Amino acid sequence: MALMTEQTDLFGMNLSELEAEILKLGLSKFRAKQIFNWIYLKSSNNFEEMTDLPQKNLSLLQEKFKIGSLSLIERQVSSDGTRKYLFALEDGNLVESVLMSFEDGKRLTACISSQIGCAVKCPFCSTGTLGFKKNLRAEEILEQVHLIQNIEKERISNIVFMGQGEPLNNYDSVVKATQGLRELIGIGARHITISTSGVIPKIDKLAKEKIQLTLALSLHDPDDEDRDVLVPINKKWKINELMSSMKNYVKSTNRRVTIEYVLLKGMNDSNKKAESLGKLVSDLHCNINLIPYNQSCSDTVFLRPDDKRVLEFSEVVKRFSKGKTVTIRQEKGHDIKAACGQLESSYRKSLH
Ligand code: SAH
Ligand code: SF4
Repeated sequence: MALMTEQTDLFGMNLSELEAEILKLGLSKFRAKQIFNWIYLKSSNNFEEMTDLPQKNLSLLQEKFKIGSLSLIERQVSSDGTRKYLFALEDGNLVESVLMSFEDGKRLTACISSQIGCAVKCPFCSTGTLGFKKNLRAEEILEQVHLIQNIEKERISNIVFMGQGEPLNNYDSVVKATQGLRELIGIGARHITISTSGVIPKIDKLAKEKIQLTLALSLHDPDDEDRDVLVPINKKWKINELMSSMKNYVKSTNRRVTIEYVLLKGMNDSNKKAESLGKLVSDLHCNINLIPYNQSCSDTVFLRPDDKRVLEFSEVVKRFSKGKTVTIRQEKGHDIKAACGQLESSYRKSLH
C-alpha cells in the first residue's frame, strides 16, 4: 500500500525557499523561478497551466506540492460590480473577502480578513457577534488576494484589512502578510490600509516597523463612556492614550492616518458628537471617514441615519477639526451584503 505523503504548500514562499524545495526534487533552480513567476505574476495555482515546465516533471510536482490551501465556496456579484467571496480553510472554517472597484475600475480594492470571528465584540458588527474563533496564518491572509486575482484574472491595486477580525490582535501574521503583499504580490505599502479598533501596544509596535502603510482607527465615538459600549476594547485602552499613540504613529512613519466613524442613528450622530469628534482630532494629521451604518442583513438594534443627518454631521466635523478632509464612505455591494462579516453570517443562516 502506498503511503500518503503530505504535499508541501508552496504558496507564500519566497524565491529562495521555493528554490530549496525544487532542488530537493532534483530539478533545476530555473524551474523554481518559472513556478515563482507563475504563482505571483500570473496568480496561478495549478501546475498544469504552467506551460513552460517540462511535461515529464508535471506528475512529480503535482504529487509533492500544492499551491495554497483555501477553496472557493461562493462568489457573488453585486449590481454595482462589487464581488464577494466565501473561502473555506482546510479545517472547514469560512473566511470572506470583498472586491470593490473605484474610479471606473482604475482602482481595485480587496477587503480581506485577518481572523475568523473577532474578540473585540463591537455590538453593531456581525463579526463581533460571532466571537473569536481563530487567527489566520499569514499565508491564508495573502491567499485571499491571490485567489481573487486568479478568479478574476485582474490585478488588485489596493488592500484594506477591513474584513473579519481585528488585524492587530493577529499582529505577526498580519505584518508578515503585508510583507508578502509587497514583496511577492507587488502591492506597495502605500496601497495597504490596516483598520484597527485601537490595540494600543500594537499600534506602538507597528509605528516602530516604519512600514509606509495607512493606519485607520475605528473611533466611532469621541467620549470614553459611550465608546466603552460601541467598541468594548475601549474599556482597556482609552481615547486619550489612543490619540497619543496615533500621533506617535504619524511622527514615526510620516504617514497621515485615517479616523473611521460608523454613524449609528440616535447613538453617535448628533451635532454635539460631531463637534467633540472634530475637536478631538483637530491636531492629529488625519482625514476622517464617516461610514453610514450598513444595516442590511444585520440582526442588531442599530440603525443608519438618513442622508441629511450624515451630511450635517460631516459639516460640523469639518468646522471643528480645523478643516480636515471628511469623506463619507461610498457604499458598495449593498445588495449582496458586503459589509464586514455579513457574508459569512448570511451563509451560516442559509445552512440552518
Ligand atoms: N476590526 C477592525 C477591522 C475590520 S472592520 C476594525 O474594527 O477597525 C472595518 C470597519 O467596518 C470598522 O470601522 C468597523 O467598525 C466597520 N463596520 C463593521 N460593521 C459595520 C456595518 N454593519 N456597517 C458599517 N461599518 C461597519
Ligand atoms: Fe472586531 Fe472590527 Fe467588528 Fe469590532 S468592528 S467586532 S473590532 S471586526
